Amino acid sequence: MSDSTLVVWDEVLTDYDHGPGHPLRPVRLDLTIALARSLGVLQRPGVTIAAPQAAADDVLELVHDPAYVGFVKVAPDEVMSRLALRYGFGNGDNPVFERMHETSALVTGASVQAAAAVWSGRAQHGVNLSGGLHHAMRDRASGFCVYDDPAVAIAWLLGAGAQRVAYVDVDVHHGDGVQAAFYDDPRVLTVSLHESGRTLFPGTGWPDEIGSGAGTGFAANVALPAGTDDGRWLRAYDAVVPELLRAFRPQVIVSQLGCDTHRLDPLAHLNCTVDGQRAAYARMHQLAHELCDGRWVVLGGGGYDPLAVVPRAWTHALAEVTGARVDGTVPEEWRDYATQRVDGTPPDSLTDGASGSASPVDAPARAWDGPDGGALDRAIQASRDAVFGHHDLVA
Ligand SMILES: [Zn+2]
Ligand SMILES: [Zn+2]
Repeated sequence: MSDSTLVVWDEVLTDYDHGPGHPLRPVRLDLTIALARSLGVLQRPGVTIAAPQAAADDVLELVHDPAYVGFVKVAPDEVMSRLALRYGFGNGDNPVFERMHETSALVTGASVQAAAAVWSGRAQHGVNLSGGLHHAMRDRASGFCVYDDPAVAIAWLLGAGAQRVAYVDVDVHHGDGVQAAFYDDPRVLTVSLHESGRTLFPGTGWPDEIGSGAGTGFAANVALPAGTDDGRWLRAYDAVVPELLRAFRPQVIVSQLGCDTHRLDPLAHLNCTVDGQRAAYARMHQLAHELCDGRWVVLGGGGYDPLAVVPRAWTHALAEVTGARVDGTVPEEWRDYATQRVDGTPPDSLTDGASGSASPVDAPARAWDGPDGGALDRAIQASRDAVFGHHDLVA
């Protein structure tokens, strides 16, 4: 497939920086773009790179409380105030940082640009790897996220006339902010695969969170056991996502591709590889062409190993979006550059040497024979039981 892709990128997006010692390190984005460039991925035919434009207040306020947006603007002067705590700032996760509003509005604007390009048909696929800040709530910062760019981009799509938007979130953490923004809205199907809230922030994302009111059945959650590896992770994806999306018939798919499911990620406890991750990206890409003429908005998300994981995982995402996977060794020029930017030994290979294939989904769920398979398949079945009936699907 050779498709047109808009990649929204400029170095200014690395200003989204919570400061020294914070796990969200903007250098991960710089190293990703550098790796993709060194492999020629961003120079492929059909790829356009555009600089981000800040989301205006009225766009941010499609999702966020105007009083919260107002506070974010003045927060650097109000660091110690009681309001800072009320709005979720001031703890280790969400320190107030300089130009916080300006930078967060740029990240959000980039996701809206990617969505607008896809919705208008100017590009089939739109990418903002600085986005995917899925924890921010209507009136509160959370989990390193100030503005919820996926939710704002989806709200923008609804405002532009979209009637069915599917949001697929494979970050290791539950996509709680996006789920909350559309919990009672049947126009947005949110599906989140994540490590169970029993062992990981934010502690939500249980199968029985299925939406409310008119939106009942339009939120789906798979709470994966700690230790889940590629085969089981893809098995869970295959057992839940394709059937739900085919039943929902989205006009556009918005994906959050947090790569903190990787076994080297320092914040979480799944056991995936970049090979499993790129297999998931390929599945979403295929669904976008099968279900909605390729309309696919690709956002980043979590990922806290800025050297060994994020650049490779998201270069694979860019390679998938732009038409062909990359394999082989990591270019020497990138290794030299990466060594100048961060401590540690850069990876040699673009892959982790794993098969990137799923454990079969067509085996009876309870016939799983892995050591944790019972727990995994119970998790899958609970998710299917909770939501499939709302779409006339057999659980
Ligand atoms: Zn495509
Ligand atoms: Zn995450």
